[in-house]
Amino acid sequence: MIKTCDNPGLLPIQSAISNMLEQVTPVVESELIELEEAFGRVLVQDVISNINVPPNDNSAMDGYAMRCEDLTHNQQLELVGTALAGVPFKQKVLAGQCIRIMTGAVIPQGADSVVMQENTEATGNTVIFKQIPEFGNSVRKAGEDIQQGQVVVSKGTKLTPAYLALIASVGIAEIAVIRQIKVGIIATGDELTPPGQPLGDGAIYESNRYALTALLNSFPVVLFDFGIVKDDKNDLKTVFEQAANHCDLVLCCGGVSVGDADYVKEMLDDLGTINFWKVAIKPGKPFAFGQLRGQLGNAWFCGLPGNPVSSYVTFEQLVTPVLQKLSGQTYSPTPHFVAKAACLIRKRPGRADYQRGQFYRDEQGELWVKPNGKQGSGIMSSIANANCYMVLDQDSGDVQVGESVNIQLF
Ligand code: AMP
Ligand code: MG
Repeated sequence: MIKTCDNPGLLPIQSAISNMLEQVTPVVESELIELEEAFGRVLVQDVISNINVPPNDNSAMDGYAMRCEDLTHNQQLELVGTALAGVPFKQKVLAGQCIRIMTGAVIPQGADSVVMQENTEATGNTVIFKQIPEFGNSVRKAGEDIQQGQVVVSKGTKLTPAYLALIASVGIAEIAVIRQIKVGIIATGDELTPPGQPLGDGAIYESNRYALTALLNSFPVVLFDFGIVKDDKNDLKTVFEQAANHCDLVLCCGGVSVGDADYVKEMLDDLGTINFWKVAIKPGKPFAFGQLRGQLGNAWFCGLPGNPVSSYVTFEQLVTPVLQKLSGQTYSPTPHFVAKAACLIRKRPGRADYQRGQFYRDEQGELWVKPNGKQGSGIMSSIANANCYMVLDQDSGDVQVGESVNIQLF
């Protein structure tokens, strides 16, 4: 049995996350893809460099290259040639000589230092130096970024734009990544109407899928959108079975509470297993985690509450760890910063609260935070116009003006 908190039946958020991370095993299938396609994908093995980067000592400036020791007793050198990036100077630079050199050009044999153009004066074949450089001045050393044989990026890393450039810089065009995880998304509720259609009696526009789909975009996933499903056991069963057959993870939003038309828990009992249901988090208490039986194996299942703010918050706080683990990444919790409460923040002990806040710096550089408007779980504007979560521990009560508050930046 999983340990619950004092609030009967509610699982503390850290226990919920640990439980999910223990259960979920990463997808192991991998594929070779072009580097161009690799943004956001997760490396399946270390990328090792076969070369030094940069491959040669080269100039960091437009200027002149020479032997540094020549300038200790002489301010004037003979100009004997030019080196451009990609067009090296092929001879040796001798004592008393210098060459014109451009940024990125290979430092020729004999030369060891570069003086930038602005500190020189050239007339005909003579260059006068107004700066005495130190040995190695303005020279970028071979291998100073990456050494041959070095691990450039470790397996399990999600590829950011900078990693893509790093891998390209060692000359690798194709890499092995974990295949994209297949995520199904279902919205359920009789009242839900797709935007763009007239609104019937008692209906509302379906909005959660738009946020969830966009949030999913920052993970290496292929999306299976099952649209809106009625609060009908047969309809739900059909879609759940379909989703379980196609997906690694199924997200269902709505119908997970204890209302008369909330069938998700019953479905999960029927078609799979429930690991836990109800987490000590506000907003988002009715969050279910389990598995659905599929023809090819089980799909993980997260049941998100239908309230727009709750579905958003539970996705970020509870589904994100699952997506990270499934896609082969190392779980990395979003860092917290500490700000001071700019006003009284209301909070009842019992659930960890993720209130939507606005943080700012005052003239002394001190970080402050205040709630961003109404905090109801249906008030989506509270999230849209906020810039952080104020993370209030499960057991904490009201936060007084000036007290410390953990914040998580958006
Ligand atoms: P439920 O979790 O099904 O009890 O829904 C809780 C509240 O969220 C209700 O007011 C629903 O109308 C609303 N809701 C449920 N699903 C969605 C959705 N996909 N988009 C917008 N609101 C929703
Ligand atoms: Mg509903």
